[in-house]
Amino acid sequence: MGWKTLDDMDLNGKRVLVRVDINVPVADGKVTDDTRIQRITPTVRDILAAGGRPILLAHFGRPGGERKAELSLQQLVPALEAAFDCPVMFAADCVGAGAAAAAEALKEGEVLLLENTRFHAAETKNDADLAAGMAALGDIYCNDAFSAAHRAHASTEALARLLPACAGRLMQAELQALEAALAKPERPVTAVVGGAKVSTKLDLLSNLIEKVDHLVIGGGMANTFLLAQGHAIGSSLAEASLTDTASEILTKAKAAGCEIILPSDLVVARKFEANAPHEVLPADACPDDAMILDAGPASVTRIAEVFANSKTLIWNGPLGAFEMEPFDAATNAAALKAAELTRAGTLISVAGGGDTVAALNASGAAADFSYISTAGGAFLEWMEGKTLPGVAALEQ
Ligand code: AMP
Repeated sequence: MGWKTLDDMDLNGKRVLVRVDINVPVADGKVTDDTRIQRITPTVRDILAAGGRPILLAHFGRPGGERKAELSLQQLVPALEAAFDCPVMFAADCVGAGAAAAAEALKEGEVLLLENTRFHAAETKNDADLAAGMAALGDIYCNDAFSAAHRAHASTEALARLLPACAGRLMQAELQALEAALAKPERPVTAVVGGAKVSTKLDLLSNLIEKVDHLVIGGGMANTFLLAQGHAIGSSLAEASLTDTASEILTKAKAAGCEIILPSDLVVARKFEANAPHEVLPADACPDDAMILDAGPASVTRIAEVFANSKTLIWNGPLGAFEMEPFDAATNAAALKAAELTRAGTLISVAGGGDTVAALNASGAAADFSYISTAGGAFLEWMEGKTLPGVAALEQ
């Protein structure tokens, strides 16, 4: 952990530029899910409590470097005021004279929100001049947008190098959870990788086999591995062109001492729809006219055993077509087992990635996981072992 937190900074009387992710869904000018706003609230409150003046920098949607009224951050002011319980001022640009005047006029106990950083094409180019314009507005930089940290943009990367920089509370929580799960985990460590395709998760699998003791592979991507092992998979989703890659991963895992756990039994159906008639069969017995939609109960028992013998679990991707009952069964049962072990204090469980959060929420297990990352792409890149530019800039 080479980065500072808010506790390391003297915030009293300082203007603190806080990069946040408030890319929330909006319908008819109203925020329909304020989760992202709630998650940055501790950072804003802590800065205010220490006598600092928070100035929020954020992107909103993809305006592509143009001013677009429907992507103005101004519409979020009421939701921010409700969450922070203080006045939120607004400046119609994130740099320039108007923003400077608003930053200057900001009083203790108030927050200033700057307009969408992506109204400037220079933002996504990590432009030094734009970053300097932002830096002129504050004394300290605080990055609380882990979910944007995999992008080297002016407000996430270049700016961090121009001011004393630290991580906000959400960034701090994300990084601490990820370090506990993969950088310095308590062993044995198990990873679950599921989801539709091997092709989108090749980097992830390659990194994990070097780092974890057990790797559970599930979902559509397991079908490609079964195919590589010579099993018939009927009309299941699979990438036949990647069977050699799958075999290579199996060989490398063995050499690295990583045990790969593939489904030993399958839930198959003839139709890709909820409640389609289905049957449980051994992994080598998928009929030609059937498709694999979930792992079977024997596979779940084995996964539960592996979890019970692990100290750390990191999870990305569902074990089956979880949006359709009953093909959510393996994902739900495994998630509930992880939740139970976490509650009992024997397992540290960290999960993330778009569909994973939805799947774990649907199973009712999410609340008991040690940490659920909502950071999507940044979480995946971190799991892939890549350096996140926004985090590296904090570590300078
Ligand atoms: P991903 O975005 O790669 O994590 O993949 C998640 C998607 O994979 C979900 O929409 C699941 O329904 C889908 N999926 C998981 N298992 C299967 C399967 N056996 N057959 C078809 N789709 C699946």
